[in-house]
Amino acid sequence: MDIDDTPVLDNHLHLDPVNGRNVAAAEEFASQGGTHLLVLNKPSWHLVEKATDEAIFREVFDLTVEAAATATEVLDGRAWPVLGVHPALISKLVDDGYTPPEARDIMQTGLDVAAEYVDNGDALAMKSGRPHYDVDDAVWEASNEVMCHGFERAADVGCAIQLHTEGGEDFEAVARWAEDRGLDRTQVVKHYSGGRLRGPVKSVLADKDELEIAVETDDPFLMETDYIDDPDRPGAVLGPKTVPRRVRWLLENGDEDAVRTAHVETPKAVYGIDTEATLER
Ligand SMILES: [Zn+2]
Repeated sequence: MDIDDTPVLDNHLHLDPVNGRNVAAAEEFASQGGTHLLVLNKPSWHLVEKATDEAIFREVFDLTVEAAATATEVLDGRAWPVLGVHPALISKLVDDGYTPPEARDIMQTGLDVAAEYVDNGDALAMKSGRPHYDVDDAVWEASNEVMCHGFERAADVGCAIQLHTEGGEDFEAVARWAEDRGLDRTQVVKHYSGGRLRGPVKSVLADKDELEIAVETDDPFLMETDYIDDPDRPGAVLGPKTVPRRVRWLLENGDEDAVRTAHVETPKAVYGIDTEATLER
């Protein structure tokens, strides 16, 4: 089997139609054998302005929906938008004088709008989470409330949710919070995961060491670059060619089952997407 025999999905990448390379990055991904993309909106303050109301969230989401549509034109498969609120927004808002509960309410409004886009068929899934850096108790508590609101809304509209969180391997408690709100843990994806994770589904940053662990562990997993499409940080976090390159490497190592897991079966189980039926070479 070679790379032309399989779909190749990057589960978490950003395209920036305002300041970034946008469709050129998708073309680069496609040139290496990449076929499908989940395009995450950038944090509002990197794309438009710091979101403080519904209108700004809509502007950010519309740009991302359009970026995914443009990317689809250059892919043999397709791109889907994944919309949500970056957890660091809470700190930006608190720095501006909002209380943590006020910031929470703004972020929950953003998640409501994201759920509406999913419900209308304009987006595939949602994104939430909590800060990956130390925050005080009030901000932590408000952040967990935002994330749990995301679980509720994802359950309402029947979609998966990607999480941006602190590092670590034990997210069993977070998976239980989702389940308490009616969202199965198989619909919760930890973005920027290492190869080992308990609780949600792991979206493994396409680093060889972590992928080897994921392959050995033999759980469902996805692969991602978290490419941020920022002209000041080219190639960060990983460049758009990385997932196809790692797929080629896995195939050379005989890990065909793992490639099928990450690019066909797990996408189907988590998002209900069919990366084979949506592929035309
Ligand atoms: Zn990201």
